[in-house]
Amino acid sequence: MAEIYTNIGPIRGSCGHAHKSMNTAVKCLHRDQHGCKKQGGYSDRRIYVATVGDWAILTDDEGADE
Ligand SMILES: [Zn+2]
Repeated sequence: MAEIYTNIGPIRGSCGHAHKSMNTAVKCLHRDQHGCKKQGGYSDRRIYVATVGDWAILTDDEGADE
């Protein structure tokens, strides 16, 4: 199991990343806040976390020889 973090705001939208640590998500959020501030606005993004399970193979090798 792993956790991924992203920043989403109703107006600003998602940062589009899947951050692997809270730390990098916070840095990304701060960067967005600074960017918005420069333009006289503010970021409405918040940090979201998702728990991701182990990956499993869905398809086999059939048809993979293209
Ligand atoms: Zn980000």
